[in-house]
Amino acid sequence: MMNNRKNILVTGSSRGIGLAIAKNFALDYNVFIAGRHKEKLEELCVLNNFSGYYTFDLTDDNAVNNFPENIDILINNAGVYFYSPIEKMKEEDILNSVKLNMLAPYKLIKHCIPYMKKQKWGRIINIGSISGVMGEANASAYSMTKAALIGLTKSLALELAQDNITVNIINPGWVDTELINNENLEADFSKDEIIETIPQRRFVTPEEIAKTCEFLISDNAKTITGQSINICAGLSLGF
Ligand code: NAD
Repeated sequence: MMNNRKNILVTGSSRGIGLAIAKNFALDYNVFIAGRHKEKLEELCVLNNFSGYYTFDLTDDNAVNNFPENIDILINNAGVYFYSPIEKMKEEDILNSVKLNMLAPYKLIKHCIPYMKKQKWGRIINIGSISGVMGEANASAYSMTKAALIGLTKSLALELAQDNITVNIINPGWVDTELINNENLEADFSKDEIIETIPQRRFVTPEEIAKTCEFLISDNAKTITGQSINICAGLSLGF
């Protein structure tokens, strides 16, 4: 990179929460977006002045090797949600959840750590879910993988504490994105029913997640590491 700005990689940034995070940083950082559809990413780069894009399916075993290593700030956001009782949960959906929600963040962090250590600075944010904090009926594979991300976050925060690298996880509650509007999602609840379960009776917005990311990578948050931060409009409190 030919400027002094830090490099941020946000996975799953073609839409939803990831795109909001990427847009929030476009003015002050070299933002690299990642997703699966080249034309869409190309268009987003031009529209938002992003620095570049990576088109890889993160469930592919070797996908992470195609990403650059000189990333200062890594935001592991790409994720997939399957809704099904355990007896009907498909083997491929379990595997997909594990590969995308859990293994891809692990491998990407591993890929970026040597550079961060060399720089003596790094910020890693994993996007988990309130389902990984509490549990969610009929979303066992999703919940399992998001809970694993909390363990990964805490362990790496300890391991990397002396390298000036912080690792945190944000656990969103319900956010109104394509993840929950996906027509293939065999959910037996409506959006109105979702809202009834949220103490603040509102969805969290992607921009609210982005603003927390902004804080976590700022100098004011340098002592915040290994934290699991619920942004959920009160959902984690019970109902
Ligand atoms: P979304 O479905 O709108 O976006 C997901 C992004 O991940 C997209 O850019 C998609 O292209 C990318 N992606 C999906 N599969 C991929 C693959 N195999 N390889 C590479 N990229 C892939 O979802 P969102 O709501 O913006 O979710 C973002 C993150 O927030 C996810 O990790 C999700 O689990 C988490 N989350 C969302 C909610 C919610 O209610 N929307 C709640 C809690 C946590």
